[in-house]
Amino acid sequence: MSSTAVQAPIFPSFAQVFQGLVGQIGQLRQMAPTPTLPEATRVRRAIATLIAETNADEAVWLESCIRCGQCTSACHYFQATGDTKYAPLRKMNLYRRVYQREIGPFRWWYRLVTRPIGLKDLEALQELVYDSCSECGRCTMVCPMGIDIASLVHHQRSALVAAELVPPELAALQMEQKQRGTVFGASAEALHRMVDTIRERAGVAIPLDKARAEVMVLSSAVDLVGNGNGLLATARVMNHLGVDWTICSDGFESANFGLLSGDMALWKRQVDPIVAAAKRIGAKTLVIAECGHAYPALRWNPTLKGEDLPFEMMYMSEYLGRQAKAGRLRLRPLQGRVTYHDPCKTGRRGGAFDEPRAVLRAMQADFVELPANKEFNWCCGGGAGIFLLERATRLRDESFKIKMRQVDMTGAEAVVVSCASCRLNFEAGRHKNQWNKRVESLVELVAAHLLDDAPQGAQSPIEEAAA
Ligand code: SF4
Ligand code: SF4
Repeated sequence: MSSTAVQAPIFPSFAQVFQGLVGQIGQLRQMAPTPTLPEATRVRRAIATLIAETNADEAVWLESCIRCGQCTSACHYFQATGDTKYAPLRKMNLYRRVYQREIGPFRWWYRLVTRPIGLKDLEALQELVYDSCSECGRCTMVCPMGIDIASLVHHQRSALVAAELVPPELAALQMEQKQRGTVFGASAEALHRMVDTIRERAGVAIPLDKARAEVMVLSSAVDLVGNGNGLLATARVMNHLGVDWTICSDGFESANFGLLSGDMALWKRQVDPIVAAAKRIGAKTLVIAECGHAYPALRWNPTLKGEDLPFEMMYMSEYLGRQAKAGRLRLRPLQGRVTYHDPCKTGRRGGAFDEPRAVLRAMQADFVELPANKEFNWCCGGGAGIFLLERATRLRDESFKIKMRQVDMTGAEAVVVSCASCRLNFEAGRHKNQWNKRVESLVELVAAHLLDDAPQGAQSPIEEAAA
């Protein structure tokens, strides 16, 4: 298999980017804001948030658990530790108490027989809804009652935002994005600098801020603060396809620390400029960078409910897959055996299973599935911001071993991922365990295998073989 670092040596390898980011992440704890509100106010705000976010779905979910325990064995944090504290049904308990005391039909009774929620309850909740839940949805998928535990966890993250109880690393980035609109300092100026660097040193043009374009592409902080290879690869692929594309410097950031922290106002504030820019330029397609949580942040943004959007939102792997299926992506064969890790948010939640596999087929890859794949894929352990949390290190490391064992069973030399957060977590696991597998980004792999002289619209090798 060709190495992406060899194809684009002007930027550091992803392993080096990872080392640099670890240093920056280590400083986040010192930058986190400290609580300012009185204890009673924090508790009141948390309860009010849960009441406000409880609609018919949430009420039914909170009423209908039959304690069957099927969700327990589906959760990687339970599987990795054997500790029933991390059972998904326990992650709903506080929300259920609020529901029973404040909303449910027997609230008068529950107020008599249960104790009120206090700050200590909310502090204990922090580990359950941040450190030990990546909102991967695997428990949701197996629940016979159709309870969306991951969504209930997310509502509780919102409650902890109101109670000023976001874990420090996430709180620091939430604050930065709220106050300055950046993540790790990745500003519009940083985007301009990276575009200039890519043009000058790699000779690859990125059409920035076009007035009109068919396709609008997002970038991400990871691309701009270190991994220039990600943006360079994206540009190479888009230019190879010959599409009318652009990146808008007033709406380019995929990362959304509103979604990750549970801060709904920030979630919306990050999405609004992207939607406005896509409308302004008349985009037909919005391509979301390889940033797993950015997909739900845009696709299922509750603040967009009811709004007709004149463009289609697509994750990078979906976009690449459609191009591969249409024969527009002409690729050299990929050497060596690979497997693919489905990011939870784009896979189990989004259903983008066939497209990344179509890309690997177009590279004639010796591809082998993980033992549990597609909707049954296990989270890598670092999703939904957990990769950033120092306190979650043990949980993250232990659950990554599940993934490592599964990759080892395939005999693959490399695991392909299509999410920067998964990739960082894989890189951390690889480093800690002296693991001999390579971790490849799908878009970087595609860029490294482009047949640049291929005529547009021709059949892909896999289709020619099938014809
Ligand atoms: S959403 Fe995933 S991490 Fe969270 S409780 Fe369910 S299985 Fe565990
Ligand atoms: S699988 Fe569903 S019904 Fe069973 S314990 Fe878990 S949440 Fe409750």
